[in-house]
Amino acid sequence: MAKIKMTVPIVEMDGDEMTRILWKMIKENLLEPFVELNTEYYDLGLEHRNETNDQVTIDSANATKKYKVAVKCATITPNAARVKEYDLKEMWKSPNGTIRAILDGTVFRAPIVVKGIEPCVKNWKKPITIARHAYGDVYKGSEMKIPGAGKVELVYTAKDGSEERELVHEFDSAGIVQGMHNINASIESFARSCFNYALDIKQDLWFATKDTISKKYDHTFKDIFQDIFDAEYKEKFEEAGITYFYTLIDDAVARVMKSEGGYIWACKNYDGDVMSDMISSAFGSLAMMTSVLVSPDGYYEYEAAHGTVQRHYYKHLKGEETSTNSVATIFAWSGALRKRGEMDGNEELMAFADKLEKATIDTIESGKMTKDLALITTFENPTVLNSEDFIKAIAERLKED
Ligand code: NAP
Ligand code: MG
Repeated sequence: MAKIKMTVPIVEMDGDEMTRILWKMIKENLLEPFVELNTEYYDLGLEHRNETNDQVTIDSANATKKYKVAVKCATITPNAARVKEYDLKEMWKSPNGTIRAILDGTVFRAPIVVKGIEPCVKNWKKPITIARHAYGDVYKGSEMKIPGAGKVELVYTAKDGSEERELVHEFDSAGIVQGMHNINASIESFARSCFNYALDIKQDLWFATKDTISKKYDHTFKDIFQDIFDAEYKEKFEEAGITYFYTLIDDAVARVMKSEGGYIWACKNYDGDVMSDMISSAFGSLAMMTSVLVSPDGYYEYEAAHGTVQRHYYKHLKGEETSTNSVATIFAWSGALRKRGEMDGNEELMAFADKLEKATIDTIESGKMTKDLALITTFENPTVLNSEDFIKAIAERLKED
């Protein structure tokens, strides 16, 4: 069988530890036998980031602007222990943070739904995709402990020196205070990323804040979304047969629990932090969550939502067998290849992405899975495979087609 050709490359960002091992297996067993892989390779493994003073991360993000599609392996975000372990020159920043700062995107996380791994919420039939705004609010807040009686105010000093004040609280006794902010431009690009992605995957978009209580702060989020929707997306949504739905955050949570899924839920920074963990654990497994960074300019970077699975890597180094789930990493590749195909009008490549995903799901649904899934499956007597044999089982199915 002739291999599928790719005219334009995708940006390949290699990573660390167990996921770096899976990365190579996926390429060798599931991609290279079928596709003439055309990638521009960047090694974001921690050693190489350290050698290049992290320039490789910046270069890979800039390459994503050029080619528009990237696929990324999980990478170590250094902490003090990693600085020692890898003898780092510096505690390099999180690659995901660096890439997101350059591409200015929103991260969309979605569970991969398969039979046998049933969500805790029994009416959830389709994935719920969480979009988390990645700037500001409490994550860039400033806080004070108030020792005793006194007045706290917000003060805005304009460039011309004029002031505007707002009383926060007249304290009679000790307490606490917090100031936080956001920027309209950031909310606007968040809104556009969400609207674009909804059109892209043809799913309804939900957005929720607490605008009834927060009449200026949260209300601004609501207004910006609505204004951009009305001016730029209303007709496109109608044509695509999808809707934009705004409600209060508490109402949204209640509706989510009763829904069957199949939509995108856009969340403010804190809501997204909390709700994405709720959604991923309720759907079954972090190892089954995909993640895509979508920029308002239409760049896409696909990855798995989980980390480098360090604990399994150390077993692997000791020569012990591992059973690490590669599904989210496989779906990062299929997502990137499908997007490449869409952009280039490469039907064959798009069809291959579908086949790869189907082969992966069929393998699990036939009862063959990694240990993490075997522990939670509703199937009786699942076959537990090691990291490599699971990928090989998928390869067998791919060859059958
Ligand atoms: P992790 O790699 O997500 O793994 C945490 C635990 O979750 C694992 O020990 C394992 O549980 C389970 N798990 C996660 N993915 C799995 C998979 N594919 N198959 C089977 N089990 C899986 O998180 P971490 O150990 O906290 O972080 C390790 C490194 O990853 C850190 O250096 C961190 O900086 C980095 N990280 C990177 C990204 C990214 O690049 N996007 C995201 C998060 C973390 P058991 O051990 O119980 O089997
Ligand atoms: Mg969190």
